[in-house]
Amino acid sequence: MAVENIVIVGGGLAGATAAKTLRAEGFGGPVVLLAAESHQPYLRPPLSKEYLLGKAGDDALPVVPGDWYDANDVDLRLGVKVTELDTAARAVVLADGSRLEYASLLLATGARPRSIPLPGGGLDGVSTFRTVEDSERLHARLAGGGLNVVMIGSGWIGMELAAAASTYGNTVTLLGLEDVPLAAAVGPELGGFFRSLHGAHGVRFRLPASAAEITGASGRVTGVRTDAGELLPADHVVVAVGVVPEVALAEAAGIGLRNGILTDASLRTGTAGIFAAGDVANALHPFTGEHHRSEHWSNALNGGKVAARAMLGLDAVLDTIPYFYTDQYDVSMEYSGFPSLVAGPPVIRGSLAEKEFMAFWQREGRVVAGMNVNWPRAAKPQKAIKALISARTAVSPDRLADAAAPLDQLLDQLLD
Ligand code: FAD
Repeated sequence: MAVENIVIVGGGLAGATAAKTLRAEGFGGPVVLLAAESHQPYLRPPLSKEYLLGKAGDDALPVVPGDWYDANDVDLRLGVKVTELDTAARAVVLADGSRLEYASLLLATGARPRSIPLPGGGLDGVSTFRTVEDSERLHARLAGGGLNVVMIGSGWIGMELAAAASTYGNTVTLLGLEDVPLAAAVGPELGGFFRSLHGAHGVRFRLPASAAEITGASGRVTGVRTDAGELLPADHVVVAVGVVPEVALAEAAGIGLRNGILTDASLRTGTAGIFAAGDVANALHPFTGEHHRSEHWSNALNGGKVAARAMLGLDAVLDTIPYFYTDQYDVSMEYSGFPSLVAGPPVIRGSLAEKEFMAFWQREGRVVAGMNVNWPRAAKPQKAIKALISARTAVSPDRLADAAAPLDQLLDQLLD
């Protein structure tokens, strides 16, 4: 079908990348990008890292330069929320009641922080974290140091915020439901590495523990009571307990859902003309034959590209190996692979104690995921990890662990 006009709902990385790709592919028809936030589409990863730490400014955030939208005739409408999808009429309804028809529609509505019903959750000084405003407010609060800060949640965002808060000289206590932070993401061995890293910077952990109540006085937070009854003093509390995909529009329109919006590998939903990409999409991945919903930067980037091409009727499949990264203190980590395929503990190449290593996870002898921490970039560790995963070839743990055998040599031998 010839596409006449394309509407994109959600001005995050996935939505803006889709707009950029449409133009890069030569699509000359109307493109409208509807963005509930008042900022031009921006990158979120710096918000909990260099932006929060004051090491990067506003210029680090835009997905594309500010003048790109006008220059490329993309109708970016900021502060505009879509309230309804009329799939029968192929139209979206905006908050002011106006309607906008589409030939193809991309849902790139992302995710929002999960909220937990905690007594005291509405007190001043209790926040969640997702937007540039959240980052600016937290920066203003933490940068002077000297506060008691409690992080509720021991996932990536909680850990990155704990790192920033302690770097600013605050006293940080982190609560999490797991025995080891990040265990669900990288297993107990590597979760333990991150725990030690934080411990060395004075972060205190309460694990496993949940918050039973947030205490306050005169409307302001004063502490967090754990389920074990301990009262942790707090001047500021961040609730970072994961995100939920923004599926309200899709749900009301009867689009198929399961842990997000279900799509095929080309990011098509089951409803004609509607695609989904980024944090909100639970896409079929050709490597595993299963659906994966990824909450990472590279998935929004690659998903935006694939959805744009698929909307134009081009061959496009989201088959990239999931990738993400984190920076905490002096540790830069990158990870590629499929956590759901991991069977058993990782093989380590290098030294955890020296904070320079790679980790490989295997299943039936094949590498299914890998991580590098402070590994020399010249060795292209991520390229090697992705090649090992794609090769689907068994490799002995000894060879993976042998730091004397360069990875490119290992790959050459394996792929011969
Ligand atoms: P979003 O960025 O959530 O954008 C969706 C947009 O749609 C939002 O602006 C929302 O307001 C808008 N919207 C929703 N509903 C509507 C509607 N009805 N009408 C109009 N607009 C609507 N990933 C990594 O790989 N590495 C990292 O280090 C990393 N760090 C992160 C740090 C933070 C603090 C956060 C929050 C995320 C981080 N991520 C990281 C994850 C990564 O940023 C996300 O995966 C990515 O932002 C998802 O992009 P998206 O476009 O799908 O969704």
